[in-house]
Amino acid sequence: MKQTERLQPTRTGIRRAAALLRDGALVAFPTETVYGLGADATDDTAVAKVFEAKGRPSFNPLIVHVPTLADAEAIGEIPEAAWAFLEDGWPEGLTLVAPLRADSKLSLLVTAGQRTVALRVPASPVAQDLLTAFDGPVAAPSANPSGRISPTCADHVLSGLDGRIAAVLDGGETPGGLESAILAFDEAGPIVLREGVFQVSEDLRRKTALDDGPGALPAPGMLKSHYAPQGTLRMNVTTPDPGEWFIGFGPHRNADANLSASGDLREAAANLFALLHQADKKDRIAVAPVPNTGLGRAINDRLSRAAAPRGADF
Ligand code: AMP
Ligand code: MG
Repeated sequence: MKQTERLQPTRTGIRRAAALLRDGALVAFPTETVYGLGADATDDTAVAKVFEAKGRPSFNPLIVHVPTLADAEAIGEIPEAAWAFLEDGWPEGLTLVAPLRADSKLSLLVTAGQRTVALRVPASPVAQDLLTAFDGPVAAPSANPSGRISPTCADHVLSGLDGRIAAVLDGGETPGGLESAILAFDEAGPIVLREGVFQVSEDLRRKTALDDGPGALPAPGMLKSHYAPQGTLRMNVTTPDPGEWFIGFGPHRNADANLSASGDLREAAANLFALLHQADKKDRIAVAPVPNTGLGRAINDRLSRAAAPRGADF
């Protein structure tokens, strides 16, 4: 890829960053917590690029960034108990998990095919300007290669991702330094899924996911049979058995569906969750081998969860 552009948060820079996002390119931007690696959250291919650029070995769901509470409400149904946190506007460094609306238009990769979505309205003026200029939801994990420390300035972003992303919007040091806190809700109130910049007061802190031990409210992507189709699924199949619904990768004459006929991993990632949805209606599914490199690792990780026997959750 070309060298990563370093954009200033001027009108020109913001406009350029928004145009790149609209083109399906990746743009890192500052928030009040750390720098996020942004992609158009409605564009499967753009979201696949996020996992590719970060070298993420699994498709864990991404946080969706929007400029206003109204935009958040258009994507997720804000849980009743969450409103107590939103009385004075969206607090800094807070991410809320909400049921996903059917007409959200989000890429299935963003939510890893789940029916919930993590939403955040960043307070940072540069993030606000970018989101307003882009005028759509932006999926953004932290702008660092998988396994590395979250970036708090544009130089950190470039040291990890230079040449792998289109641009970084340089807004100086981020004030938070820590990630956003992630809260989910059930009837009884908030559950802290991840500690972060936003602090939940002790009286509201009913329990954390960890307090209840495994199984209480596991972080998505942790379940072995997470996002399993109802039928059985076999991986690394070159010749499907009669009656199996066969998902190909690369040229296959007999495939019922194909992750990518040209063998392109980014295209395969972009198609994965839609195909798993389709596969949900089949009794027996077979999937062609997918090379275990780059995005192929995350694809194989998700397929192996889909292939895991039911009830083998932990
Ligand atoms: P990062 O990608 O580093 O910004 O981290 C995103 C975090 O948000 C991960 O820990 C995800 O598991 C969490 N997350 C994203 N979407 C959801 C969701 N729908 N439900 C629960 N946690 C989520
Ligand atoms: Mg991160």
